This record gives sequence, structure tokens and C-alpha cells, in this order.
Amino acid sequence: MLTNAPRGTKDILPDAVGAWTHVEHVIRDLCARYGYGEIRTPMFEHTELFQRGIGDGTDVVDKEMYTFSDRGDRSLTLRPENTASAVRAYLQNKLYADGGLQKLFYIGSMFRYDRPQAGRMREFHQFGVEALGEESPALDAEVILLAYDFLTALGLTGLTLKLNSVGCPACRPVYRERLQAYFKEYLPTLCDDCKDRYTRSPLRILDCKRDAEQPFMAGAPAITDCLCPACTEHFEQVQQHLTAAGVSYELDPRLVRGLDYYTRTAFEIAYPPLGAQSAVAGGGRYDGLVEELGG
Ligand SMILES: [Zn+2]
Ligand SMILES: [Zn+2]
Repeated sequence: MLTNAPRGTKDILPDAVGAWTHVEHVIRDLCARYGYGEIRTPMFEHTELFQRGIGDGTDVVDKEMYTFSDRGDRSLTLRPENTASAVRAYLQNKLYADGGLQKLFYIGSMFRYDRPQAGRMREFHQFGVEALGEESPALDAEVILLAYDFLTALGLTGLTLKLNSVGCPACRPVYRERLQAYFKEYLPTLCDDCKDRYTRSPLRILDCKRDAEQPFMAGAPAITDCLCPACTEHFEQVQQHLTAAGVSYELDPRLVRGLDYYTRTAFEIAYPPLGAQSAVAGGGRYDGLVEELGG
């Protein structure tokens, strides 16, 4: 017991550290070229930040957080991701006061109580970027390109990029209703989690690993048929920028990502040789998050 690290954690030993620092150098070089500045936020935050930011009802918040009371009876949580913290820091430190675009990056440990398996640890290491204060679809494309350039700089080839738009508060309710109408007759055969998602967040049924192989999944309506004109226009422009930059992508109307804060663009990059856990990067736009967190 005393000689074993907790399940889902791992030591990085001297003979592996060289590879880690190499990756970190690549990140810092790349972010300097793209104009992103490094930020280091606390390992733990008030639990409410993640409940509000990531969203109650997501797997991350409901099942995977390391939440504890400190000796002063405050509920704190080890960060399961860094976006909510970065936005909190942006607001608290008034980084918006300079006006215009703020571009931030971070490298660090994140924590999720997940079943440990290949490529998935309870303490895992994430590099991420956040770009705040600009609505242009060119910025969405830039963030995706940065992720692509990073993985390519590490020598990964044959990457696949999946792209979707998850809409906005104007058009997503229409899609929610269409999904609920579609899944109504299949409700008894959905897993227990999805029975709950059906009311709370039907989009997440599309993301369910247990129901992924159900025959009716393929026929579910696609969000791209419900987007409002502004979201359609934004999505088309993101695609045009990616094409102009020479990046090929595949549209995937089922890509919803497991976090509540995404609006419009969502993407995922996979490295197929990794097999079942091949997704190595992902992200999206979050136009409502700053306001959700009080800014
Ligand atoms: Zn919309
Ligand atoms: Zn399910």
C-alpha cells in the first residue's frame, strides 16, 4: 500500500522526463509564435466554479470530480479541466481591461475520477489554450490549427479532424425538441444515464458510449439541419478558413463533447494508431461562459 501510488496516477521517472520537457518546449515555442501567453491557475477551485462552468448534469461534474471539504468547511474541487479556471482568472484579474483579444495557454495536471485504462489516468496532463474577446470564425480556425500544428510538430501523422457546430441559445432549443421527439419511442431501450439525459440534456445521448451501437442512433436528427442563419454562416466560415490553411476535416454532426459550455464550433483531433482512445485533442467555442461565471 505505502509503496503504491494511488490508482490512476503514475510517476514520471528520470529516463522519461526528457520526452516530457521536449513536449513542453514544443508547446512554448508554438504558443509564442501564435501569440499566447502562459497562465498558471490553482490546482483546486471552489466546487461551484465547475458546477456552473462545466455544468451540472455532465459526467465530469456528476461522476468524475475530486471534491472535498477543507478544514474550514468550504467545498473545493481538484480541477478536472482548465477552461473554467482560466475564465475565472480572466475575470478576477480583469484581463479584459486591455481590450481586445486575450490569448492564454497552460500546461498542467488535471484530475478526474474515471476508470483507469490505456491513455486515461485519474491525474492526467493537459496542454490547452483559451482565446477570449473575439467572435470571428477565423479565431476558431486558428485554435484548431494550433492544435494541429502542435501534434504535427511532435511527429504525429495521419491525424483526423472532426468538426461540428453545436449551435447557440437561439437554435439549440429547436434541436433539443427534435431530439426528444425522435428518442421518445426508444426511451425504454436507452441506458439509465440517457433516460436522465433525455430531459436534462438530450444532446448528450449522442455522446453515450453505452448506447453508441443502438440501431436507431444513426437516424437521429443532425444539429446542422437546425442551425440558425448566424450559426450556419459562422460554421461555413470556419470551414473556409481551414480549407484555405490546407487542413482537411470531416463533418461529424454527432460530435457534441461532454461539456455544457460549448457554443457553435466543436472539434476533435484523433490519432488513429491509438485505437479506442485515439482522441488526442478537442475543444470548442464558449460564447456564454464568461457571462455564466458572472462577467
Ligand atoms: Zn444559432
Ligand atoms: Zn446511454
